[in-house]
Amino acid sequence: MSDTDVEIDPSTLCPFCDSLLPANPSARLTSLKDYLLSRPHIEPRTSIRNRKAKYLPIVQIASFCQLHKIETTLIPEGRKKGYPMTIDWDGLPGYVLILSLILAHFVSEC
Ligand SMILES: [Zn+2]
Repeated sequence: MSDTDVEIDPSTLCPFCDSLLPANPSARLTSLKDYLLSRPHIEPRTSIRNRKAKYLPIVQIASFCQLHKIETTLIPEGRKKGYPMTIDWDGLPGYVLILSLILAHFVSEC
């Protein structure tokens, strides 16, 4: 038996593109998935990898697939790099002031 013969739990896969879903999806992602799976015109889709594959037009699933890709790749990468997970609104004016001073310095040298 090879690695490709191992059956993947379909609940861990996107029903629309068969990509791996995040282990801890956001409430927004879960809610959007539930909404899409309840659409009246959803149809089964043939997939070797995902026996629970579904079909909806791309315009209906694009936001969902984009969001789960962000949650599985971009957000974990940002965490590894130490990016803040929340916006420091109180500190924002200070950051803008520092950046404007830096920009003013570069402009004055031109
Ligand atoms: Zn998807």
